[in-house]
Amino acid sequence: MGNLDGKESAIMIITDHYAVFGQPVKHSKSPRIHQIFAQLTGQNLQYDAWEVSAEQFTGAVTDFFAEGGKGLNCTVPLKELAWRYADIKTERAQLAKAVNTLALQPDGSVLGDNTDGCGLVTDLTVNHGINLTDINILILGAGGASRGIIAPILDQSPNTIVIANRTTEKAINLAEEFEHKGAVTGCGFGDLAGRSFDLIINATSASLSEQLPPLPEGLLAVNGSCYDLAYGNQPTAFVRWGMENHALLSLDGLGMLVEQAAEAFFVWRGVRPVTQGVIELLNSERQP
Ligand code: NDP
Repeated sequence: MGNLDGKESAIMIITDHYAVFGQPVKHSKSPRIHQIFAQLTGQNLQYDAWEVSAEQFTGAVTDFFAEGGKGLNCTVPLKELAWRYADIKTERAQLAKAVNTLALQPDGSVLGDNTDGCGLVTDLTVNHGINLTDINILILGAGGASRGIIAPILDQSPNTIVIANRTTEKAINLAEEFEHKGAVTGCGFGDLAGRSFDLIINATSASLSEQLPPLPEGLLAVNGSCYDLAYGNQPTAFVRWGMENHALLSLDGLGMLVEQAAEAFFVWRGVRPVTQGVIELLNSERQP
């Protein structure tokens, strides 16, 4: 409180509220990442993690925005529901049919965006110097994460993308959705024998249970690299597979997590945090 011109005045510091909704979400690193971004960029915000099931989703989002919330991240299993909830969508969200970022607009409508693909491409190309142009890329998995990454990867003009999935039909259908944007085909794991790829991206959730899709010998080209969207304190089963198969780089998805968060932060706050130090900090905090 102060006293200007003989009148009482108050300086109100408004804290904007953000959150990640998902299930399970209690181990999410997103609250920590966004609090660091807020400190780095001088923004005043609070970011929480809320366990929200698919059944609770619509009511929980409506309440969150009605109570003054400004933006949400949505993770497993809510990205498709978030896509349906959004009043307006960015082009990349429209293509993905999955939304990981909701942002309240000044007119009260809710914008849906998908920052996953941008986060992955930034981590691959900027942070790790992996060129995606004119190479052959294999994406394992045809779930929500795959949906978000295909178009941004196609924008880098690879030679081909093959999507392989346990349920073959899902891979074929997903590839058909994107074939107008570039050379992308779908198949089952059994169809991979005898083929090789310069970059293999694991977008299955197999790593979360320490499992590995069935991958034939010779699948990774000489000097090829591997990238697992999943991450953990220890190398995932797929990161270890990459090392055993002499990958030039065998990486997990921590960098993507930070980069997709930075893009969401930009959508909400109009400020882009510098990510390198945040990735280094989170890497240093991994338990041995
Ligand atoms: P979904 O549940 O939508 O899809 C899961 C996919 O994994 C499906 O294609 C499924 O095949 C496949 N799958 C599951 N278990 C196995 C298994 N044992 N063997 C082979 N395939 C399997 O999950 P998401 O797409 O949303 O997430 C996938 C992964 O990406 C998760 O590990 C998630 O944590 C990670 N992720 C990381 C991000 C980051 O920023 N680093 C961002 C987004 C996701 P089927 O269709 O046959 O069931």
